[in-house]
Amino acid sequence: MKKIALMSFSAIMFASCGAPQGEKPWIVDRFDDVKVIRYEVPGFEALPLEQKELVYYLAEAAKCGRDILFDQNCPVNLPVRRTLETVYEHYEGDRTTPEWKALEKYLKKVWFANGIHHHYSNDKFVPEFTEGYLLSVIETIPEEKFGDELNALRGEVCVAIFDPAAYPTRLNQRAGDDLLLTSSSNYYKNVSQAEAERFYAAMAAADAGNPEPVSYGLNSQLVKDEAGRLVERTWKVGGMYSPAIERIVGWLEKAQSVAAEPQKSTIASLIEYYRKGDLKKFDDYNIRWVRDTVSNVDFVNGFIEDYGDPLGRKASWEANVNFMDSAACRRTAVISENAQWFEDHSPVAPEYRKKKVKGVSAKVITVAMLGGDCYPATPIGINLPNADWIRKEYGSKSVTIDNITYAYDMAAHGNGFNEEFVLRADDRERMDRYGKLADDLHTDLHECLGHGSGQLAPGVAGGELKSYGSTLEETRADLFGLYYLGDPKMVELGLIPSLDVAWAGYAKYILNGMMTQLARIEPGKNVEEAHMRNRKLICEWCYERGKADNVIEWVVEDGKRYVVVNDFVKLRALFGEMLHEIQRIKSEGDYEAGRDLVEKYAVAVDPELHAEVRERYYGLGIEPYGGFLNPEYELVERDGKVVDVKIAYPTDYAAQMMGYSKNYSFLPLKN
Ligand code: ZN
Repeated sequence: MKKIALMSFSAIMFASCGAPQGEKPWIVDRFDDVKVIRYEVPGFEALPLEQKELVYYLAEAAKCGRDILFDQNCPVNLPVRRTLETVYEHYEGDRTTPEWKALEKYLKKVWFANGIHHHYSNDKFVPEFTEGYLLSVIETIPEEKFGDELNALRGEVCVAIFDPAAYPTRLNQRAGDDLLLTSSSNYYKNVSQAEAERFYAAMAAADAGNPEPVSYGLNSQLVKDEAGRLVERTWKVGGMYSPAIERIVGWLEKAQSVAAEPQKSTIASLIEYYRKGDLKKFDDYNIRWVRDTVSNVDFVNGFIEDYGDPLGRKASWEANVNFMDSAACRRTAVISENAQWFEDHSPVAPEYRKKKVKGVSAKVITVAMLGGDCYPATPIGINLPNADWIRKEYGSKSVTIDNITYAYDMAAHGNGFNEEFVLRADDRERMDRYGKLADDLHTDLHECLGHGSGQLAPGVAGGELKSYGSTLEETRADLFGLYYLGDPKMVELGLIPSLDVAWAGYAKYILNGMMTQLARIEPGKNVEEAHMRNRKLICEWCYERGKADNVIEWVVEDGKRYVVVNDFVKLRALFGEMLHEIQRIKSEGDYEAGRDLVEKYAVAVDPELHAEVRERYYGLGIEPYGGFLNPEYELVERDGKVVDVKIAYPTDYAAQMMGYSKNYSFLPLKN
């Protein structure tokens, strides 16, 4: 997987927090199915001055490509946005009418989605105000506020907003359709799918056998010239999107001037690629970037992900500036250093323990700026680069973004979820206090140790569990994490203050696995996804095994069902027993036993419980999508020298968007 998507839903499921609320609200705006959350950048103030300055320059570079993404998403996005922003800035009429509110909401949605199509479903937004209203509002504003270029595009803008047949979907993936002619993105112009496929097949054929193939077509629009021949308009200095790219390069040069090696050379190679547009240079840059594991400040800036192109070739522009979260990295380092102890004390049969185990220490980062296709909606992890041959030869960087998940958790705090689904006050308190730490540690144990633990019996090759393999593998890693989360060793290593952290994690896990994760499943469907199956498998198995001792109990109060854990210590012992059995199944390649477990415990959904969970969950009115407001940075200069960089946390979504449009719009309306 290239990107770790922001699973807004699961974040809500696990929502809780570990620190006191600041005085500012975390959710700064909400409209339609979206909430906008601010995030904080802990640790920024403590960075050395050169690193703060580096963050500042990279953050500026991250803001300069915003218009590129708008134009990539649809060729009318910039004229539509500019028209509405001009109205938003200059309209002096009544701003309290339903029509105005609808217009304002539409503009907020366009900002959020970087265009007129929903960022997730790709469908065009349906305006809740009329063309007549928009035109009447425009009429009250002096023409020169719009300018000649925008006035000339008025008709096109209205068609784009109000005609359902125009640009209906950004990304059409329906098999059988011409995916290019039916998609409204701007990666291909008057080019059919067959023509584009032939064009790139020929390019690949000419390069056949090259073990280091470039990502053909990644950084260009494919069009026809006057003679009808297919040509690429490359996104580079002097090419398409040049005015924005020149600005990006300008800030990268400043970043380069304060960066230390090896990062200095890495930035230089990115600048060279932006100047020449040569994809070979992009590969050079990626190799340098992936090999640099020492620089504290790191960043992504470029044409990276190809999800927006129906052919999966053209990349949208995105940016992200970050630095290492040293406290979280220390946590995974401690776990990793003790990997052998965990393996030796694991409840699995001694012959299935690994004799020599090596922990992986996961990298955790703090994001300082989001841009392009990472703003406002952002992934919570990064796994790059994308070129397969580079991943094979040089590996990839995989990181999780802690301050974003933290902000998401904080925003979910008080959304009524825990009050609705957690019966006992002491469970709620523990979850509020330790839920985030429990989640983080469980993930660390799962990723750093769980998957890498254990060994196969002689003669077992792996792969015997077939279609049940991934569910059982996730089950194994989850159990490893759950078992050790409740081990006194965690306290001894200083990873948790007390076992209350584990009990918070256990209560949440059981609640989610037996109940609340069902909200994500459509009515009438069973559990399909491997991680959801593994959670259900663990919970239902432990419920049944612990029944005699009432370890886990269903309670009905006021006609509502609740699931509670009565005995955390016994539950931990059950996790250990189950890990023993799941490891045996994997080590021996026991397909039948694995299949029987999954089919018995992990798949079938009780339709009554399912309906109840969905009703109670959706009754809370929690927006399913979230995005983030960026912090703002300011250089502090004395006698012409930078002496500090200040950070501030604005809370006005519309103001940030209007500010970006004013200060970071470098492209013409049509490109
Ligand atoms: Zn896993």
